[in-house]
Formats: sequence, C-alpha cells, structure tokens
Amino acid sequence: MQYAGLVAVYDDLAGTDSTNAKRDILAETFADADPDLLDRLVTLVRGRLGPAYDRPDLGVSSSLTLDAILTATGAPESEVREQWRATGDLGDAAAWAVDHGGQQTLFSEPLTVARVHDTLREVATYAGDGSQGRSVDAIAGLLADADTSEARYVVRTALGHLRVGVGEGTIRDAVAHAFLDGSEESIRAVERAYQVTTDFRVVARTAREAGREGLADLDVEIGRPVQSMLAEKAERLDAGLADAAGESGESRCEYKYDGIRVQVHVAGDDVWLFTRRLADVTAQFPDVVRAVREGVTADSVLLDGELVGYTPESIHADPSDRVPVAFQRLSQRVKRESRVAEMAREVPVVAHLFDCLAAGETLLDRPLRDRLTHLAESYESVAPDLDAGRAGLEPVRSEWVPADTGDGDPAAHDGDGEHGDDPAESLYREALDAGHEGLMLKNPDATYEPGRRVGRLLKLKPTMEPLDLVVSRATYSEGRRSELLGRLYLACYDPETDALREVGRVSTGYTDAELQELTDRLEESVVARDGRDVTLDPDLVLEVEYEEIQSSTTYDSGFALRFPRFLGIREDLAPTDADSLDRVQSLYDSQ
Ligand code: ATP
Repeated sequence: MQYAGLVAVYDDLAGTDSTNAKRDILAETFADADPDLLDRLVTLVRGRLGPAYDRPDLGVSSSLTLDAILTATGAPESEVREQWRATGDLGDAAAWAVDHGGQQTLFSEPLTVARVHDTLREVATYAGDGSQGRSVDAIAGLLADADTSEARYVVRTALGHLRVGVGEGTIRDAVAHAFLDGSEESIRAVERAYQVTTDFRVVARTAREAGREGLADLDVEIGRPVQSMLAEKAERLDAGLADAAGESGESRCEYKYDGIRVQVHVAGDDVWLFTRRLADVTAQFPDVVRAVREGVTADSVLLDGELVGYTPESIHADPSDRVPVAFQRLSQRVKRESRVAEMAREVPVVAHLFDCLAAGETLLDRPLRDRLTHLAESYESVAPDLDAGRAGLEPVRSEWVPADTGDGDPAAHDGDGEHGDDPAESLYREALDAGHEGLMLKNPDATYEPGRRVGRLLKLKPTMEPLDLVVSRATYSEGRRSELLGRLYLACYDPETDALREVGRVSTGYTDAELQELTDRLEESVVARDGRDVTLDPDLVLEVEYEEIQSSTTYDSGFALRFPRFLGIREDLAPTDADSLDRVQSLYDSQ
C-alpha cells in the first residue's frame, strides 16, 4: 500500500468529528488491507509503531525532527520555525517546508506504508554514539521522498502525535465492523480480546482469520501484559463493605498501598515486570527480579501486586514498623534507567502481591477466592535485603470481614470509633497509621475484569480524591519566578474523542526546586511560543488536589477546579491514563 493511501485515510479521519464516521473509515481501511499490512495499519492509525507494552521509544525530539526537515527540504530555518510557531504543529511546518523548500529529489521513490513504518521502527533501535545523526538521516530520507501531506504525517508519527482523533474504542469498533458483524456481542468480544492481549495487531489478525470464536480463544500469555482491573471509589467503609460483599456474605479488606502497580510475569527463569501503563520496567527493578527468582516456586505464573518504596533505614524492620516513602520518590526508580543499583539502595521496595491471573492456565474467570489460593501456592515470602540487592516479596496485609456483624446492624463499620473490635475499621486505622493510603474492599466471588471499573473492587481513602491531569499549556510566572513555567493549564482526557479537555490552571503547591524540574521537563515539549505563553506537546501528568469542581465556560471541558494545588508528577501515567471527562463529571455530580 502506498503511504499516500494511508494519508488520505488520516485526512478523512481528521476531517470528521463523528466517532461513527471515524469507525466506518477505519473499518473499510482494515477490511481492504493486504493481510501483511494489517498489523502495521492498526497501530499506525493511532500514530504508533507497536502495542503499548512494546512501543519503541523513538527518542526523536522536536529539534531532531526539525533538523531532518531542514536537511530534506532545504527550507530556511527561520521560516520553518515561524510556520511551527504559527500553527503549533511541526507536521504542518514540515508540509510547508516541502512546498517551499525548493529541494528537488531526482530519484524520488514513492513512500509505502511498510517503508515509513519499518524505517521509524528501526530508528527506535539506534543507540549510542552517532545515533542522533542516524535518526536525522533516516527521517530526512523519508521526508525527501514525501509530498506535502505525507511529510505532515511522517513528522507527526515520528513525534508520536497524529492529531486525527482516534481512541482505543474507535479501533475496537472498527475491527468489529471490518471482520465481524459489528453487533454489541462482537464489540464486546473484540474488547475482551484486547484487554487480555493489549495488542490490536493480534486482535485484528485473529478477528479476520478466526472470527469471534478465535477471539474468545485468545488468552493471557506470559510476557505480554494484561490490562489491570481498576477500582471504584467507596464513600464510606460501611457502604463500601456492603457493595463489595460477595454471595458468601464476606468481603476482603486489604491495605491500599500508594505505590506502583506491578504485573509480575514468570516463565522458568524469565521474569518480566510491567506497570499499569503497560510499560516494561524489568530493567529498572533488578532487586525485584531477584526476589521473584528466589520466592516464586511456580514455573509459569502471572502475579499482580503493588511495589511500595520504604526508607532504607526502615526496610529491614518488621512490616508494621517500616516507613513508606512518598509515591513521587518511588517513581524516580521508573524514570531512571541508569544508576539502577544505587537507586535500589536509596529507594528499596517490597512487592506486595494481591492476585494471581494465570498459573499454568488463565485464571481471569475464576473467583478471587480461587485466585488467592493459586497466589499462595505460587510463591514464598522473601525478606528484603539491601546488601544482597534484593527487594521484598510479601502478601498484602488483609482481613476477611463478614458483610455485617451478624446482628443485622449495617452501621457496625461506620468508622466512628465505637466499634473498636470491628476488623475492617481496625485494619483501616492500622493502614493509615502505618502511612498507607487506605483500604481496598474486594468481593471474594468476583472474576478479574481487565481494564474495567466494576463495583466489585472498591477503594477507600479519607480525603477528597485528587485528580490526575495532563499539562496542556503553560505560562511563565511574573516576578521572582519569571524564568519558571509557574502557571500550568490542566486537562482531563476524553477517550471518546481521544482529546484533552482543560479543567483549570494550577500555580501553587510546588517548591522552587519542583518548579524548576517541571519547567525543564515542559520546555522539552514546547511546540509553540507566544509571548509568555507556551503550547505543549502534552506528555506530563500531574496529581492535583482542589477544593471543589465548578461548572465553567472558561475551559472547554465545561468544568473548572477551584483552588487546585500541585501534589506531584505521576510518572507512571500517560496522558491517556489521566482522569477522564466522565470522572470529572461524576465527581462534580457527587459534590
Ligand atoms: P489512585 O490514584 O487512588 O491510586 P489509581 O487511579 O492509581 O488510583 P485505582 O484503580 O483508582 O487506580 O486504584 C487502584 C490502585 O490501587 C491499583 O491500580 C493499585 O496500583 C493500587 N493498590 C494498592 N493496594 C492495592 C491492593 N491491595 N489491591 C489492589 N490494588 C491496590
């Protein structure tokens, strides 16, 4: 397939706001695709080069891409920069440069989809000395053969921002329409297959070759992450316990730790660690890998848990005496790919395991109670040992709690302190006293629902829920901090349209050092400047607290946060993991 054909699809997608129209455009593209190309197309239509867990990091910055544009087109730098500033999109600037650059390529070869995809994937493998120059050459090579529109999308793909408004749901529906009958059941089958495989390449290929039955056969695979099951918020302990209680009239209460969700995949000696964002963090946590090799007795198993950081001084103490470190400190371990061993000493961790999703066979459709039996059979606890460079491996602290106290009094667990013996209430207080976040309330009969918030998994925390929001643009402060980007516009994510919607602006809560770090990082993703205002290529997700949510005409979400305060950076979240517009709406409704 010629790249021009895909470019026409991108233009069609960008030209409509209707999700149904987008779905139909994609369904037709997928149905007509050459079988060999389908794999590449399903990721390229979102501007990606692979599934989330194997998404190669191209490592090309805007400035490298600008170099490639200048090299390929011969257009004057100042004018290309001016176009970039005016449109806020380096892709548009590249299109302009192709038209105005005056560079003639004598032996131009038309671009194909395969060439663009494979070249960019190869760029992601470049490392070490000279890799930047080679990346510029490779991208310039594509741009030299590109026409105006092709250049726009090559650049946007290289930068990872396609701007055609296609979310995961649209791809799911398009696959169901292209290869199945498009019914609700088919859509659900595609969705389930995606939650289990997290790879639309596998899902689309299977739907085409083996239909709904084939999709139903797709299963968890060790080494390929599953989407994590997510929790809903419980407002109070008593109501939460009643909601979570299973048919057996019991619920399970566990500490809610404030750490990093980790999926531990084990096949013999091979170990993989994935975050909730489906990022492979095996290399950053050799101490956890060591603990897993020592503690896990099963041959092939997929465990779910939370990595929690503790102070080095307290890591060898009894679990109840350990001091957890703030999530922000722990998340530095995910960012750092160098100094890994030192970081493991500075921020030692314990992996607290709470679920088992596969043990020889998939366990997703089994009740939690059974999965916990498998969990207990798959590993033995391992004590953390800083000198041995080994993390801890332990179960979560938990209690089984009857749905009510037997006398039918639903207020038994009301947290008023009068029921000192109440196991749920005591566990809640104990968790908070030990510096953890609260409790998770779980239904023992519930199956594991990847990627979903279903009422059978609840979280209970004492404070008003902070929001995780994307920084969409920023303004330099006035006065003392005038060199710093002190006013950050925040947006939630709307998965329907794959777009960000602003909900307010934060300018307090950070120290000077934090603000300097934020500024340094945000300045790397500036796409346009206008006086003291900068437009960003959104990448950074912040955790923010606030007093309340108001309705507003100032921001395009229709909401505004009152008195937002910065709490920290969520390194573990991508912009698409930020809180959704629906979530903001429901918090607003619940006030
Ligand atoms: P929050 O910001 O409140 O942590 P979240 O958006 O990260 O929430 P939720 O689905 O709302 O994710 O809350 C569940 C998260 O809590 C899980 O992803 C996991 O990382 C964490 N967690 C901590 N302890 C447990 C536990 N015992 N069982 C399940 N999840 C736990």
